[in-house]
Amino acid sequence: MNAPLTNVQARDVEALLHPYTPIHRLREIGPLVIERGKGVYVYDTQGKAYIEGMAGLWCTGLGYGDEELIETATEQLRTLSYSHLFGAKGMEPAIELAEKLKEIAPIPISKVFYTSSGSEANDTQVKLAWYMNNALGRPNKKKIISRQKAYHGVTIMAASLTGLPYNHMGWDLPVDRVIHTDCPHYWRFGEDGESEAEFLARIVGSLRDLIEREGPDTIAAMIAEPVMGAGGVIVPPAGYYPAIKEVLDEHDIILIDDEVINGFGRTGNWWGAQTHGMVPTTISAAKQLTSAYVPLGAVLVPEDIYQAYVDHSRQIGTFGHGFTYGGHPLGCAVGAKTIEIYQKRDIIGKVRALAPVFEKRLKAVADHPLVGEVRYSGLVGGVELVADKKTKRSFDAKKGVGPGLVRFAEGHGAILRAIGDTIAFCPPMIITEAELNELFDRFEKALADTEAWVS
Ligand code: PLP
Repeated sequence: MNAPLTNVQARDVEALLHPYTPIHRLREIGPLVIERGKGVYVYDTQGKAYIEGMAGLWCTGLGYGDEELIETATEQLRTLSYSHLFGAKGMEPAIELAEKLKEIAPIPISKVFYTSSGSEANDTQVKLAWYMNNALGRPNKKKIISRQKAYHGVTIMAASLTGLPYNHMGWDLPVDRVIHTDCPHYWRFGEDGESEAEFLARIVGSLRDLIEREGPDTIAAMIAEPVMGAGGVIVPPAGYYPAIKEVLDEHDIILIDDEVINGFGRTGNWWGAQTHGMVPTTISAAKQLTSAYVPLGAVLVPEDIYQAYVDHSRQIGTFGHGFTYGGHPLGCAVGAKTIEIYQKRDIIGKVRALAPVFEKRLKAVADHPLVGEVRYSGLVGGVELVADKKTKRSFDAKKGVGPGLVRFAEGHGAILRAIGDTIAFCPPMIITEAELNELFDRFEKALADTEAWVS
């Protein structure tokens, strides 16, 4: 029996359409209304503390209430609360952040284009790939390859790139021009008796077949997130990115690197691409770009691709793309300060130092009867729950085992996220070893509750 809704919960249910929520059961579930946050903790309206084990939505890398970021934001609002980059206007915060991004980028970058979100960044990537191929006189080279289980956002094109059924079913998606190839998840999709190396060779071969079947002259780009986050924290086999890059290069297909979750230290390097051997052509960033203090996304492009846009501008008279809030001075000032903090507080060093503890605590539950696989890279990880450990059979989705565990975890004061029956972990990168251990202690209690519930 669920507790009756508090006043604020009842107001929430009456007023809000909640994203990614079983809204048919919202009243029964009862929304968890968060009031404030400090460090790695958030507090609900009853004053109960939770360790934010998901850094919000994989984004609050510096945790909550960082005074330096608050001061930067306040000062920027006092100095210039809004300006934009349309019509050849400029502003210092946008320039400063772009310079910093160019400095830390994993490949030579010429220009930075700002958006307000990760979805807009990926949408922009597709438009830019089309625009580039029109400029290069290749009007048929327009399809985009993505992967099953990928997550790239929810605008019409980003949701099309996303490879999850609930983003397509009932939404009339994906749109034409988007095709999906294999998810690089050996444990789940490797065939009986197939080694990881054989699995890798098979999915790379399948990518090659797809390109040949569709026609290389019709394919502009492939998009990939180094570690797939919202698809279930999927870490590809070693050698995956160099192998697919070779196939893409053969057919003059660019590789768009979605660093929206992976970027800014999450995997123990500035970029997931560096941790996982990917050499991209262009990059999308958001989330930890501002540690989510302010919405901001960015697209990073190299010089040769930028020159194709310049050629088009020469013909058409302008570069016809841009968002009202793309390059908002508040977001850019906070973004520049966030990168400065990552550098001066050595956040990447902290992620590397804590990663073995994170790995140890994840591996400690690998033998649990409900756990099929644990996966991790740096400070992002996942625990996939299964009904049958031997056969890897999943629970009936309707039973909601993953969401059930998350609810138990909330009861114990830990916020986690269920992606189906994979429990995702992505704590703020400032978490201490003691806090990280506390998070896992609370998760283990929730796992025990779940075992009692399902058995
Ligand atoms: N790309 C990846 C890898 C993401 O995880 C997300 C969001 O979770 C997005 C893109 C979309 O970003 P946004 O929700 O800011 O539109």
